[in-house]
Amino acid sequence: MSKITIDGKVLEVDPKRTIIEAARENGIEIPHFCWHPKLSVSGNCRMCLVEVEKMPKLAIACATQVMDGMVVHTANPKVVNAREAVMEFLLINHPLDCPICDEAGECKLQDYAYKYSEGASRFDESKVHKPKRVELGPHVMLDTERCIMCSRCIRFCEEIAKKPQLTFTQRGTHVELTTFPGEQLDNPYSMNTIDICPVGALTSRDFRFKARVWEMSATETICPGCSRGCNMYSWVRNNEILRQTPRYNPEVNDYWMCDKGRLESFQHVNVANRIKHPMMKKDGGLVEVGWDEAIAKAASELKTFKKSEIAVIGSAYDTNEDNYLLQKFASEVLGTKHIAFVRHVVEGDEDAILVKADKTPNSLGAERVGVRSREGGLDYAGILKAIKEGSIKAVFVVDDNIAVDSAVADALSRLEFLVVNFSFENETTRLADILFPTSTFAEKNGTFTNFEGRVQRIRPSVSTLDQDRSLDGFAMSRLDKFGSQFDRWAKGAKRDARPTWKIIAGIASLMGAKYKYNTAEDVFNEIVAHVDGFKGMSYRKIGTMGMMLRQKETVAVKA
Ligand code: SF4
Ligand code: SF4
Repeated sequence: MSKITIDGKVLEVDPKRTIIEAARENGIEIPHFCWHPKLSVSGNCRMCLVEVEKMPKLAIACATQVMDGMVVHTANPKVVNAREAVMEFLLINHPLDCPICDEAGECKLQDYAYKYSEGASRFDESKVHKPKRVELGPHVMLDTERCIMCSRCIRFCEEIAKKPQLTFTQRGTHVELTTFPGEQLDNPYSMNTIDICPVGALTSRDFRFKARVWEMSATETICPGCSRGCNMYSWVRNNEILRQTPRYNPEVNDYWMCDKGRLESFQHVNVANRIKHPMMKKDGGLVEVGWDEAIAKAASELKTFKKSEIAVIGSAYDTNEDNYLLQKFASEVLGTKHIAFVRHVVEGDEDAILVKADKTPNSLGAERVGVRSREGGLDYAGILKAIKEGSIKAVFVVDDNIAVDSAVADALSRLEFLVVNFSFENETTRLADILFPTSTFAEKNGTFTNFEGRVQRIRPSVSTLDQDRSLDGFAMSRLDKFGSQFDRWAKGAKRDARPTWKIIAGIASLMGAKYKYNTAEDVFNEIVAHVDGFKGMSYRKIGTMGMMLRQKETVAVKA
């Protein structure tokens, strides 16, 4: 280890570290634009200039390696002067259009202008004008005038996305970011350039001008787009998700997420064809009914079937809590051995960066909490065959549109009784005798287990009428920073949906079970007590970074 001194603090640091890394690890901020912990060092913004004793000139902290005995000053008058000069230089040709810039409120240039610049400009010449509103690719818009030429976006495309699509042309103040001839900024990770652009030069074509950042809440949750389970923020205004951005987790997704997950994995939350009320088949059509009536009808109808005539289909889109209670209900209350769920693997649609072929967030979790046939029971294919043969007459399907496959739809249409839990209308809900509206991943608490066994928390960013408000300490930590989230929720339209575990608990209670779960956390605590691999976990311990399943235990579900 090397002993260095930064601003009078003596630190022991890894000799391979640069000054900026050593400072950051020890809670000392050195302002920077072009440096990023996961990209190569380019050293072009000059914002991280520091004074190193015995060096003739100021040094850039991002490219200067620490040395034993080094004494660094990050805020003495010489450094402050240099920083002010850099800021003045960067702002000379900047359009200063914060009032109409999407980045305002989360812009490094804006923040540093307040913190590290003089707050006045001596420049009274005409600014250099460059192209504005340049469509760099399908998802990213460039305002060339706002670019400070940090090259982060160029390095990201080359080094992380492995798609060198961006470059600079021209020289001096006329430098412009552009794509290579014949290229677009079009790769599966292109929108990460928006996150790392320190100014409002790169903006999201999807999100542009939808909201100011301070109008939204940001909830720490997980992308449900594939089994990677990228950590992300869900940004909401008036009960509507407006964007999703990656949240740093070095064990899962670093600072990144894919464009598809970012743009598509929340679309089903906002769709117009959400199921708004419980529904029941009457006179051949589905009609709206109350929760009590639908739950009572489901319980009374299910009681009329023999154990062997019922099958239950869980969901890899649902949480561990939903799946755990479903399989427990199936075994303990319905008494069936026919329990299964469907995997949604798109062979070949995977890469070495983040994207996984399994397009569900929780197939490992569904399996580990016990959604599988009991001894002598049927698997998914067996259940479909038995439906066609008439030996299975009643099915309970949760949160998976299995009837999108016409052969499955044909089988389900032969049933005497079909209960479906789902959040929006689709091929499966149309066949239901009883239909319960369920909360999406964005409207409930719970956990997903990603492909490598990391159990991670999802948290509600959008409100339903039946919100599980008993949030653990972490759930609202981020929201609290943005003030009264619940007040904002009150303004948006709330949907009448419940999480699957709660619907199941209601039906089970009417069928004689004594289920006493008030929150998803209650269900999770039971998983911890009964399912191998989860021992020692709690919502609090899982926190914002997740916890790995214990590996060595055998899978043994007590249900
Ligand atoms: S567009 Fe943004 S990230 Fe790219 S070089 Fe310009 S300022 Fe840097
Ligand atoms: S890689 Fe998977 S989990 Fe990550 S953002 Fe993309 S779809 Fe979502």
